[in-house]
Formats: sequence, C-alpha cells, structure tokens
Amino acid sequence: MITKNKISPKKERLTNQKKVIVDYLRSVKSHPSAETVFNEVKKKLPRISLGTVYRILKNLKKKEEIKEIPTTISCYDGDISPHAHFICQYCDKIFDVFDIHCEDKLFMKKKTKWGKIKSYDLNFYGVCNNCQKTIK
Ligand SMILES: [Zn+2]
Ligand SMILES: [Zn+2]
Repeated sequence: MITKNKISPKKERLTNQKKVIVDYLRSVKSHPSAETVFNEVKKKLPRISLGTVYRILKNLKKKEEIKEIPTTISCYDGDISPHAHFICQYCDKIFDVFDIHCEDKLFMKKKTKWGKIKSYDLNFYGVCNNCQKTIK
C-alpha cells in the first residue's frame, strides 16, 4: 500500500531530474537551448532522454521557475529576475540586459483592456561586439 506522503520512485526520479536541470540553468549565463541542457545534464543523469528534458523545461516554464527566450530556437534562462535580453542575429548569443527595464510600475500593476499584466519580456536584436569585429 502506498501512503499519501510517500513519494513514488518515479516521482522522486522526476524531482531529481528537475533539480539537476534547474541547478544547471541557474549556474550558467549562456541561455542554453534544450539540446545543450540535455547534453550537460546527461553527465549527471546518464539515463535521461531529450524528450524528458523538453517536458521538464516546458513544465518549469509553466510554473515560472525558468524563462524561455524565443530566438531561432528556444533557449532557456534560469534567472527569473526581471531583465531584458540582447540577442545577436549573427551568432545567436543571448546577453543579459539588467539596466533597461520597464520603470512604469503603475502600468505593470494596471488592469489593461486585455487583462492584468503580471510580467513582460523585452528582447533587443542586433549584432554583438564580437560579431561586429568579424563582419567589418
Ligand atoms: Zn554575435
Ligand atoms: Zn537572461
């Protein structure tokens, strides 16, 4: 008989997989893709599949524990503090932008005609300094 408080081994494994993924995402600033996440966490979880990584990432995003940045491919950010992103259109690198944000706190709390704003995403697109050097 399974008591209510006992976590099933399957659930326990999932919790551990989730933890490894979140820990990895919080430890890097590179905004990795799902595939990069998969390749990195595989070192710790050799039996994990790419499908599971996708599922966990989707779930973490839904629970707002991580952020998804839609570039040409989806990239993930373990840093959920408010910040914008600079996305290089040449190398697809994503940089954190902490000094530009929506200062309008009133607006952020406002009920708009579409609904209540909880958060927002701000992405800048351009050419990073490194790419600028190579295309000149
Ligand atoms: Zn670049
Ligand atoms: Zn970021």
